[in-house]
Amino acid sequence: MQSNKNGRVSCKNCNNNVTPRLWHHEGGVIIKREIEHICPICGETMYSTGGGVTLIGLVFGMMILAYALYAVSMLICGYLGLEKESATFISFVIVSLLFINFLLKKLVGHSLLTLFKKWRR
Ligand SMILES: [Zn+2]
Repeated sequence: MQSNKNGRVSCKNCNNNVTPRLWHHEGGVIIKREIEHICPICGETMYSTGGGVTLIGLVFGMMILAYALYAVSMLICGYLGLEKESATFISFVIVSLLFINFLLKKLVGHSLLTLFKKWRR
């Protein structure tokens, strides 16, 4: 997306220099507000800004994930004859790792895996 001083953007679809028409998708508690930049000539969405999951949505998703993980690890631990505490511990570790991974991606731009690969080299 290249825009010059008068706010015009060249559309990759029809190759015209256009002023994008903005289409707002109202966000909510879970999803952020998204703005689509639409070409007024061919109607193609050139790019969109915003969108994605909010922090509340993330925490909510994490809670559901944690609960699901807990249920699954309880089943596995029951199957292996392990204590209930180890199921709690395993799901806690996994959720923490996922959360750290998310924070690293946001703050550093690398996931745990890429950092680990760099560290091993
Ligand atoms: Zn166009």
